Amino acid sequence: MSKNKSSESVKVVVRCRPLNRKEESSGPVGGIVQMDLRLGQVILRNPRASPSEPQKTFTFDAVYDGNSKQRDLYDESVRPLIDSVLAGFNGTIFAYGQTGTGKTYTMQGAWLDPEKRGVIPNAFDHIFTHISRSQSDKQYLVRASYLEIYREEIRDLLDPNHSSTRGLDLRESPETGVYVQDLTSCVCKSIKEIEEVMNVGNQARVVGATDMNEHSSRSHALFLITVECSQPGPDGRKHIRVGRLNLVDLAGSERQAKTGVHGERLKEAAKINLSLSALGNVISALADGRSGHVPYRDSKLTRLLQDSLGGNAKTVMVATLGPAPAHYDETLTTLRYANRAKNIQNQPKVNEDPKDALLREFQKEIARLKAQLNHRRWRSKQKKEQVDCEDWGRDSDEEMEDEEEAVETETDDYVKLEEQRLEREKEAITEDQFLLVEEKQKLLGDLRKEQEATEQLTAKYKAMESKLLVGGKNIMDHTNEQQKMLEVKRQEIAEQTRKEREIQQQMLVQDEETVELRETFTSLQQEVEAKTKKLKKLYSKLQCIKAEIKDMNDEHVGSRQELEQTQNELTRELKFKYLIIENFIPPEEKNKIMNRLTFDPEEDQWNFQPLVPAQSKFSQMKKRPTSAVGYKRPISQYARVAIAMGAHSRFRAENIMFLELDMCPPNPSSLDCLAEAATNQTPSQENSPTRNRDIHKSSSWCQSSKSIPFSSSNNSLSACPAALAKGQ
Ligand code: ADP
Ligand code: MG
Repeated sequence: MSKNKSSESVKVVVRCRPLNRKEESSGPVGGIVQMDLRLGQVILRNPRASPSEPQKTFTFDAVYDGNSKQRDLYDESVRPLIDSVLAGFNGTIFAYGQTGTGKTYTMQGAWLDPEKRGVIPNAFDHIFTHISRSQSDKQYLVRASYLEIYREEIRDLLDPNHSSTRGLDLRESPETGVYVQDLTSCVCKSIKEIEEVMNVGNQARVVGATDMNEHSSRSHALFLITVECSQPGPDGRKHIRVGRLNLVDLAGSERQAKTGVHGERLKEAAKINLSLSALGNVISALADGRSGHVPYRDSKLTRLLQDSLGGNAKTVMVATLGPAPAHYDETLTTLRYANRAKNIQNQPKVNEDPKDALLREFQKEIARLKAQLNHRRWRSKQKKEQVDCEDWGRDSDEEMEDEEEAVETETDDYVKLEEQRLEREKEAITEDQFLLVEEKQKLLGDLRKEQEATEQLTAKYKAMESKLLVGGKNIMDHTNEQQKMLEVKRQEIAEQTRKEREIQQQMLVQDEETVELRETFTSLQQEVEAKTKKLKKLYSKLQCIKAEIKDMNDEHVGSRQELEQTQNELTRELKFKYLIIENFIPPEEKNKIMNRLTFDPEEDQWNFQPLVPAQSKFSQMKKRPTSAVGYKRPISQYARVAIAMGAHSRFRAENIMFLELDMCPPNPSSLDCLAEAATNQTPSQENSPTRNRDIHKSSSWCQSSKSIPFSSSNNSLSACPAALAKGQ
């Protein structure tokens, strides 16, 4: 991959945990991992190989052995990344390795022991200490989210209902790249608050898991921190920088045993490591640089980490190893994986003034509330003045009234009209006075309401403002100068060590290249010796590479066999399903179903299309069938006869069906009675339901010349006269 100016490679560090008690007691073999901290090299010994076989050596940005401290790893490899996030870059740290090798220990560690606090709690300290020490013209907004990916489903760990709802969806925007839709994000104002968020999420993880170990080694956990910082630029305007930090604790990288797994279990196994194998493919494609297509879309994890791998982010990968000989194969795979990741090039850039910065919205909201508050204060001040004025007005009115009363007593003998006029005026004034008191009370009530609203507004304003962290304010416990100095010194040392290692590595490479140039041979013998030495060196190198090729081949064959096995299992299952479909589902039904199915690559599943497409709903609606041409509704034989006979119009549309229900011959007495009834029938009685209550006649009897086409219906008698007339 071509390097451009702003590109930088993914930093890869390797950490090996100490042998645990069980491993120590299992044999005197010791660890298989050796580390050269100065050179950043890992030397792996194959416990099954002969001692003459050369050991495998890998070089990384930094290596940490079993004696390493959490703080060392943080200061040297993580601190620069968090500083970049605070400056507005995207940053990712992910821990990769076999289950039980210390991924969670590295990322989280033991929170209560300051010596054993992992990357995440140290990052919290770092971020909030940085904010407290920054200049007072800077404003910060820190948000945190926590999610896990389990069986290719994204779960929001801060949502209390996450276990009952279906997984969240991924979306992509040109501004922020790939993001999780509807993910809870909590504004955090202090270390305590962000730790609380982490605890809530961790508890949700535990509750969601039936078997914590199984679950945690099969799920990927992502803690996301967004730090927005607003600072006045040289142009006098406030500029916002947004840094996003992904802290990822991946699932165990070991291969899930697939042998003997069928059906649902097989699918599950395939899904569990889908994200990890997709991650491997993405890393290979990026490291290779030749293949244009990077399969980010193959899994949720790779889509989420799209920016972190080959995109706009600075990335640190911590590969964790176990030193036990029993896990040699897995350790080698992890080292190869990590070695490949070193070649990935990212293009990090500062996210300046993005449209979706929440800080900008908060600032706008605060400014709005502030303006509203000022306006209210000014208004209430004015109202107070108004009320005071009215109080003064009322006093003067009272004085006037007193005066008038005095005038009234002195002029007892005034003319009646004058007295009445004064009386009216007095009433008016009294009324006016009431009005004033009422108005004053109303005004006071309004004032009280206003005051309450103002208090509410002030509280809202303060709450909103408190979400923003202002640089320079002491938001953490007091950190004295000495401590600050100590930290700076520690950083300097870490920086120094890193540089030293880089120089050592460069020197090693150059040494090999220049050794030939520096050598001058005084005699032929000397030259032969030197050349033999070099030949030996090159020969051992060749052996190493040959061994490497053999290993790769073995690994390739192994994974191919595994894939073949999975393929066979899946083919067997497919054949089984086909058998059922071909033999038990009618072909036309099968075709109907197949025509309705569409594949959604976004969701990675087949969906049913609706039966009737939404737009053509109406065009597809069938018309109501007409049963007889020229008639509004279905018409029976009886109605047709009635129409033909010109019977009473009332019965023309009667729909009486002849149903062959009664198969036994009619009783002669009932027939006589029937005939009698029929002859006595007058047109006015035609419809009498009481008259034919006992008549039961099936249509099959209508065929005889004397028969009468009756039915059990109430209206059947209407046919009698016609039928009888026909019969006679
Ligand atoms: P993983 O998350 O990779 O499955 P853990 O982080 O749970 O593994 O580690 C497994 C065990 O090993 C834990 O008991 C942990 O305390 C211990 N451990 C891991 N790394 C170290 C280390 N560097 N130093 C000491 N103990 C460690
Ligand atoms: Mg773990």
